[in-house]
Amino acid sequence: MELPEMAIPWKAEVVPDPRLLVLNEPLAAELGFDPEFLEGPEGLPLLIGNAVPDGATPVAQAYSGHQFGWFAPRLGDGRALLLGEILNADGRLCDVHLKGSGRTPFARGGDGFAVVGPMLREYVVSEAMHALGIPTTRSLAVVATERSVQRETALPGAVLTRVASSHLRVGSFQYARVAGDSGLLRRLADHAIARHYPAAAEADNPYLAMFEAVTAAQASLVAQWMLVGFIHGVMNTDNMAISGETIDYGPCAFMDEFDPATVYSSIDENGRYAYANQPVVAEWNLTRLAEALLPLFDDDEERAVALAQDALGAFRQQYSAAWLAGMKAKLGLDSSLANDVASPLIDELLALLQEGRVDYTSFFRRLGAAARGKDEPARNMFPEPDAFPAWAERWQALHPDADMMDRVNPAYVPRNHLVEEALDAATDGDLEPLRRLLEVVTDPYNERPGVERYAAAAPESFGPYRTFC
Ligand code: AMP
Ligand code: MG
Ligand code: MG
Repeated sequence: MELPEMAIPWKAEVVPDPRLLVLNEPLAAELGFDPEFLEGPEGLPLLIGNAVPDGATPVAQAYSGHQFGWFAPRLGDGRALLLGEILNADGRLCDVHLKGSGRTPFARGGDGFAVVGPMLREYVVSEAMHALGIPTTRSLAVVATERSVQRETALPGAVLTRVASSHLRVGSFQYARVAGDSGLLRRLADHAIARHYPAAAEADNPYLAMFEAVTAAQASLVAQWMLVGFIHGVMNTDNMAISGETIDYGPCAFMDEFDPATVYSSIDENGRYAYANQPVVAEWNLTRLAEALLPLFDDDEERAVALAQDALGAFRQQYSAAWLAGMKAKLGLDSSLANDVASPLIDELLALLQEGRVDYTSFFRRLGAAARGKDEPARNMFPEPDAFPAWAERWQALHPDADMMDRVNPAYVPRNHLVEEALDAATDGDLEPLRRLLEVVTDPYNERPGVERYAAAAPESFGPYRTFC
């Protein structure tokens, strides 16, 4: 263990009667596991930490975090464990991690458990994100524990087996900083550089270079979330990974109707983590990371702050450039198109989508058909009949590339009503809707017959959506 101050050796609660709900066979193969072995009586206990390979020491990791803006110095894995690290088929080191494996010394008032619905939500949404090409932690399996877990009602327990390039978070650095041990902070940063940003080691100021790399990775990540309509829901600093992967899927959701103010999470009462706030929050979180790293940037505090400010200044420009490039692609426009032509066109479209409460995902997919001359499906999405044609005429004049559009505008995302349907059925013991949903969302750009209902907006009867974690 390289950072013993930040990890407590611990064991998963024993599950006498584990039952596999879903196993990610392609991911298992990438990690060098035979899926049949993992499903079997020897593999299943390994998958949930009830059996530990020789030499492995599962640990609960310590971290801090700003939760909805308030600093909590001691969070950590309250119901999670890092089982260990393994090399994948590409020779990259991966964390294998459990969620819902019982109380740890960081559990505070929590019961240490997780329930079937939210663990399957993480599985579905993270695998959809991966298929969309967005950096994310992966889901290897969800195993039912047959334990009854008390939430608002009694619900069936489950353990998620998660795979990530690491579980180093902004909150990990905050923890090392408030521990007041500059040696620990430096070792943590050296560890992060070696694992994620080895090129930073060669820079004049490696720690600043690491911070710049994290900033660039987050600018790119959040731009991708925004382009695909993903709302993380709890962007606390403990839920932001240094690797640039999307991490900790709680009350997350894909936006249905386009509205920048969209909030689905039941715990986000003030809309801090609303769709449109995500880039602002990412920058805020990076500022917290910079604060934690200041002593490593320079011995002189004033100089350290100036360096941090400079590095942070890149975020807005990087985010905007990534978002604008992505939006041009969504509209089938050439990347070299002048920004002062593209930007007003995009802004006007988004205003029209908001005004008409238009379904975000299907609009962009139908716009691809419009680029091929079939503009009725897109036009019919607007309640005001003249809204779209006037805009579309200007857009068509730029000769959009429909094939490019279909490569970046997904036909299928895990729509809220479909996720709820699959999770409810699974909670009641029927895994078939989950299996079908996974089949569709793990191949999101390939529009195909027979699965039309997965591309359609939620029925009116679905009503306003709320997510719980
Ligand atoms: P999250 O909102 O999932 O990012 O979790 C925030 C903190 O609460 C982390 O320290 C978690 O480990 C902890 N936590 C969440 N749920 C539970 C639970 N049921 N039991 C113990 N700790 C929990
Ligand atoms: Mg978390
Ligand atoms: Mg969570």
